[in-house]
Amino acid sequence: MAEVVKALGIFGYPLAHSMSHLMYSTAIKHLGINFQFQPYEVKPEHLPAAVEGVRAMGIRGVCVTIPHKGAIIPLLDELTEDARLMRAVNVVCLEDGERLVGHNTDGIGFVTSMRKDVGQDPKGKRILLLGAGGAAKAIAVKLAVEGASHISILNRTPSKAEELAEHVKDQVPGSEVEGGALETEQVGRFAKEADIIINGTSVGMWKKGEPPDKSTLVPSEQIMPHHLVCDVVYNPLLTPLLCSAKRRKAKVLTGLGMIIYQGAEAFRRWTGCELPVQLVRRRLIRALSQAGS
Ligand code: NAP
Repeated sequence: MAEVVKALGIFGYPLAHSMSHLMYSTAIKHLGINFQFQPYEVKPEHLPAAVEGVRAMGIRGVCVTIPHKGAIIPLLDELTEDARLMRAVNVVCLEDGERLVGHNTDGIGFVTSMRKDVGQDPKGKRILLLGAGGAAKAIAVKLAVEGASHISILNRTPSKAEELAEHVKDQVPGSEVEGGALETEQVGRFAKEADIIINGTSVGMWKKGEPPDKSTLVPSEQIMPHHLVCDVVYNPLLTPLLCSAKRRKAKVLTGLGMIIYQGAEAFRRWTGCELPVQLVRRRLIRALSQAGS
């Protein structure tokens, strides 16, 4: 009798920008393990049925992306601490063939990339975080949990930054977090005091069929050589912000490490195997350069 292939997948809508298929299929092929990864475009109205399908068909795990990261929460049996704190799920694991457990690996992906790719630890650092969407939320919570000394969150819609700051302070006792408007003067004030500047917005991201976004939210003269400047955007790898940071002799961290290490966490939980990080990194860089970054 043929051996049953263990299924993995991703739920999102639409799925045009996802790198997950390439990342996990590369790892599965390299390791020669009996898994298969399949992208599923799941419309919001079909999410409950799709989630029940995971349980019914014994799918070992799925990645969850826009627009389902929050909507999936009431459909699951359990949440990990990170998913609960971030109020968002990007990975689901089927445990014991029955229980659907929601994880959030975005924050740990970012912090692991900081540690492994540029050798920096968030503990005791002052952070300027731009953005208050899904990626920024995961990063803000994780940095607070990891002991950042102060986090300033600035967002185009200031109320969202203030809300996120309150949320982090509530969830992570003792954390020092403030939120405000993403205005040049504020950026300058907080950049001056910061050790680490993070773009957690989609500004600088290239979209298919559109001219490259050459904008950056941090004026070049506000970046200093002591700064670590990070971007969550990974297409292009060197965003306008990171190019400007390099010219100013600051250390830079691209968004690629975050995506790889959040995926490595998921892969370990689903398969018990380590993701071949260097191989996956090379494949993703090649795919991104072929896509025109
Ligand atoms: P999201 O939830 O839609 O949040 C978007 C954020 O960008 C919001 O803070 C939004 O501000 C801000 N923004 C958008 N356009 C802006 C503009 N023109 N000026 C100033 N701020 C602007 O999206 P997300 O899921 O957080 O994703 C954000 C980026 O992170 C995307 O490029 C995504 O590809 C990337 N990402 C990377 C990883 C990784 O592993 N590297 C993981 C997740 C996401 P408002 O609140 O004012 O709208």
